[in-house]
Amino acid sequence: MNMPLRRGESRVHAGGIERVSHCPLCGSADTAQWVEGRDRQLRVDNEIFVYDRCGHCGVLFESLRPTPVAIGPYYTEGYGPYVDHGNATSRSFTKWLNKVALAVSEKIVCSDGFREEIARFYERLTQKPRFLDFGCGAGKFLDRARKFGCDTIGMDFSSVALDEVARRGHRALAVTDADWRAIPDGTVGMVRMNHVIEHLYDPQVTLKLIFDKMAPGGVLHIATPNSDSLAADEYRQHWFGLDCPRHIIIYNPGALKSLLVETGFCDVRVIQEPLIKDRARSWVYKEVDAGRRAPVDVTALADDGLLNLRFAFAARKAARRNRSDRIHGFATKPLSWTTQR
Ligand SMILES: [Zn+2]
Repeated sequence: MNMPLRRGESRVHAGGIERVSHCPLCGSADTAQWVEGRDRQLRVDNEIFVYDRCGHCGVLFESLRPTPVAIGPYYTEGYGPYVDHGNATSRSFTKWLNKVALAVSEKIVCSDGFREEIARFYERLTQKPRFLDFGCGAGKFLDRARKFGCDTIGMDFSSVALDEVARRGHRALAVTDADWRAIPDGTVGMVRMNHVIEHLYDPQVTLKLIFDKMAPGGVLHIATPNSDSLAADEYRQHWFGLDCPRHIIIYNPGALKSLLVETGFCDVRVIQEPLIKDRARSWVYKEVDAGRRAPVDVTALADDGLLNLRFAFAARKAARRNRSDRIHGFATKPLSWTTQR
């Protein structure tokens, strides 16, 4: 992990910041500043970045951002979550209360339908496809796919992650031209992109590469924050989904769908995930800024039952209005697709 910096110090070297005047997704110049942000999650430094909203496709994009070369230090390795466990003297009671609160929150937000959709999608693992997890992290999901008998490939930008993926016995590939060539075209039956597309500077290029590697009839699943969420509007610079400066483009259902269709996919669907924890974490960021809480690693607050319970009804309302914090895209490579095109 990087050493903390003094206030105002920056990890970005001179020339490592760039301005983006047009929407990087649709190219429109009809953009307006949406918010200024800084790295709240990993607190690498206090550098200020800017997000604009595109007036044409509606995505949020980082208009003052680290260049692709300079973004590296904002991905710290081995970040150790800090959790405030609260009252340690009543640990077992707290644990019980937490469990009950999480269960009740889950009932309120009602994500059964969503979970069934995800389960249905991943039933295809039983057909033992070649499985690519793009942005695989340490490779936990690859382990799951291998249990079904899939040929598993993990791709990631982090060499530390890839070392772990290789140690777990999966094929580990870097995001380089040479490693892309190592996957034969038209052979991958299933692709997962879990919280990765929003980190990409060149989503069209990456999706095209993935599309080419996929077999006709192959399927893709993307999970990503929703820039049209109620929480994004409400919390702005405190919104957890912003994850400044690592999130480069933050999609909405329409823009994600268009991107997938333009890549060549068919049967494109985008659904909402009823989700409490990101709204709760956004609230905590705001509390920290107001001086009512000490800075904490909010990722660890996902399992805080009472915090989840507090925001369960707001999350349910967001889901019912199709304005949840997270969306999921599903797409299929057309069966009729041939490489001769
Ligand atoms: Zn746009």
